Amino acid sequence: MGEIIPTPIPSLTPEECEAFDSLPTAVVIFAADLILYANAVALGIFEADHPERVLGHSVHEFIYPLDQERVVARIRRAEAGNVINPPTEFRIYTQRHQVRVIALTSRTVRVEGQIGLIATFLDMTERCAMEERLRQSDEQFQHLMHTMQDVFYRTDVEGITRYVSPSVVNVLGYQQSEIVGQLASAFYPDQTDRDALIETIKKQGYVRDFPGQMRCRDGRIIDISISSTILLDETGQYAGLEGIWRDITQRRQLERKLEQLASRDELTGISNRRYSLEELDKRISRHQRHGRDTAVCILDLDHFKRINDQHGHLAGDQVLREFAHVVQSELRNTDHFGRLGGEEFLLICEDSSATNTSLLAQRILEKVASNPVRINPQTMTQVTVSIGATLMDTNDESGSAILSRADEALYRAKTAGRNRICWFQEIATLSEP
Ligand code: GH3
Ligand code: MG
Ligand code: MG
Repeated sequence: MGEIIPTPIPSLTPEECEAFDSLPTAVVIFAADLILYANAVALGIFEADHPERVLGHSVHEFIYPLDQERVVARIRRAEAGNVINPPTEFRIYTQRHQVRVIALTSRTVRVEGQIGLIATFLDMTERCAMEERLRQSDEQFQHLMHTMQDVFYRTDVEGITRYVSPSVVNVLGYQQSEIVGQLASAFYPDQTDRDALIETIKKQGYVRDFPGQMRCRDGRIIDISISSTILLDETGQYAGLEGIWRDITQRRQLERKLEQLASRDELTGISNRRYSLEELDKRISRHQRHGRDTAVCILDLDHFKRINDQHGHLAGDQVLREFAHVVQSELRNTDHFGRLGGEEFLLICEDSSATNTSLLAQRILEKVASNPVRINPQTMTQVTVSIGATLMDTNDESGSAILSRADEALYRAKTAGRNRICWFQEIATLSEP
């Protein structure tokens, strides 16, 4: 701060007062700590309804006690060194005992033979309040970023994470610093997930609840849901992504459980009718693509009504459960077995010729017939099953045509004496157990 020559200010002329009063900033002149002059804006900030409430008063009356020491030191420094005091903020009391924050700068002047100070200042109360509000909202934001279960992130054009909220540690177990600067894809167990995300975002500009998975620090794979938008540079080119993702592992598990429940037959625990018919449609599409032999069979218990009639409905239920269990033990993973309703079941054998399917059917017939079911400690009952079978045809477009062929074959198996498999039409082969 260079030395300055004090400007002599004698008593102000009316013109000078008018000039100061027209300034948009507050001006105060004081010497020996007494206020000699305050312009209109200054009186306004001091909330003085009359100049006499300020003029002739000590500056100490106005300075907030906690700021006194600092401000007085500045005044003394300026008085001693003829310097311009750089702007500083401190609190004052107004005449109405309100606390205000002012930003003040001052320089040394010579007032009527003595060293004084001319100070200009602005009312910063509003700005300070705004800053406080900003600080508080930033604090809240930071708190949110730390504690929320969602993870906020931003990646650049290379797919490198440039920002991730600290909350990531709650979900993935990684610290922010272990992720920022790394390829986002490094945390995806399946790269095709990330590729699909980028492709969709580039196409539509955003994604909502996009599914994916991530690998945690401890190796666990979690299900996530991503909502993000595309970031573009000034030229409109793709510049990265920004958005949030959340751990939805529990929701997914619940959904899978519900899906499973909705696709299960309550009595036997195997697939229900709805799921079995969907499976039939899926396998028709697959057959159309690959053309591999696929056999479709309807299995219907023989004289089941008699079991109910003789032993009661609960015994019938027990027979249905055991039958499902016995058949399932003979199947491959790729076979589909479900309950169509009542004592009727659907079996789909993919990649299985008529001969192989007949061999499987034979094993089922024998196993069912040779496994009497215990329906109570004293009673066992015997059950047999009839099977109507057909092979999928490349012309088959819906399940109903296939099922009616299998049904027709089943009818023939029943009329031919039950406990056997019959094939539909020309490839029909009768097999005696
Ligand atoms: P067929 O050899 O000609 O198939 O004779 P069936 O007696 O098995 O055939 P039908 O269709 O006359 O009778 C089927 C019986 O299955 C009638 C029905 O009461 C019984 N049933 C259907 N669903 C259930 C069930 O969930 N539990 C029990 N216990 N019985 C059932
Ligand atoms: Mg029956
Ligand atoms: Mg039936």
